[in-house]
Amino acid sequence: MTTPAHDLLRKLPAVDRLLSSDRVQAWLATHPRTLVVTAVQAALDATRGAIRAGETAATEAAALLDRAEQMLKTQSTPSLRRVINATGVVLHTGLGRAPLAPAALAAIAECAAGYCNLELDLDTGARGRRSDHVAELLCERTGAEAATVVNNNAAATLIILNTLARGAEVIVSRGQLVEIGGSYRLPEMMTASGAVLREVGTTNRTRLADYERAIGENTAALLRVHTSNYRVVGFTQDVPLAELVALGRRTNLPVVDDLGSGALAELPAGALADEPHVRAALAAGADLVCFSGDKLLGGPQAGIILGRRDLVRRIEANPLMRTYSHRQAHPRRPHRHLRLYRDP
Ligand SMILES: *Cc1c(COP(=O)(O)O)cnc(C)c1O
Repeated sequence: MTTPAHDLLRKLPAVDRLLSSDRVQAWLATHPRTLVVTAVQAALDATRGAIRAGETAATEAAALLDRAEQMLKTQSTPSLRRVINATGVVLHTGLGRAPLAPAALAAIAECAAGYCNLELDLDTGARGRRSDHVAELLCERTGAEAATVVNNNAAATLIILNTLARGAEVIVSRGQLVEIGGSYRLPEMMTASGAVLREVGTTNRTRLADYERAIGENTAALLRVHTSNYRVVGFTQDVPLAELVALGRRTNLPVVDDLGSGALAELPAGALADEPHVRAALAAGADLVCFSGDKLLGGPQAGIILGRRDLVRRIEANPLMRTYSHRQAHPRRPHRHLRLYRDP
């Protein structure tokens, strides 16, 4: 006995017939075979399911292939793709923050399409450091003595703290214990770095005397953190960088300023008035400053560390540098033999 559903199921073309069709053969030129076969099978299964459920479903080969093509398209669309940012937040972490300028994209395309002198000094033929390409520019732009670059500003903070203050105390105002998105919380960063957080003052008011009183034998640094994503208003007070620097000098403690975004260029009057200026922070005497490369600067994801040469060199010598920067090179003689792959 046959039912209408049974008849329809019998009408469905065999998978082999679909696979040998011209359309599928064309897909195979641009898609992996497993993906194509899976899509054809899935289209057949879905149609069978619809028929069994008593729904109307087209059973011709062309209709099945349309269905398979749709599935193939969905499957082969890259997970990462362009979107429109309609959030009103210009630098949105979820949307990749800063788009890159056409000139930067062109420079990437030019170098990344082939080999480049990433860790090679073309004048001497010796091994160079990848950060050298940007360090000089950063110093020139900001007046810093030395510069280095790591994966992001979180890594910059962590490696600074680990280098200067592992096992020792770092003094921070209670008004500056920031959370930047769920995964970056300053107290937790501090713990992860091996430094000990010494909070001073209150949420709304911190004075120089609070820092002074907290300084002891085990103090390794004074840290200022820009409150990038919130504001404490009303009855408030905090310590200007210059005063903290003066205290640092008197007590022989480095002052670190986490600027968050860090403005590099002169911004139009009134625009982003709350964003600290990198050059100003260095001029005020901060021993180290750090900020994100992909916030105001508008570059790729990066954390930029600027400041005293001796401290930047110590940071670069920290074994963590190898994991926090994309790949840290140590100057070495170039290899004499050709190799397929070389990890520095
Ligand atoms: C954004 C921000 C960070 C984290 O920077 P990432 O580049 O996202 O790692 C750290 N500190 C402050 C003050 C920030 O604004």
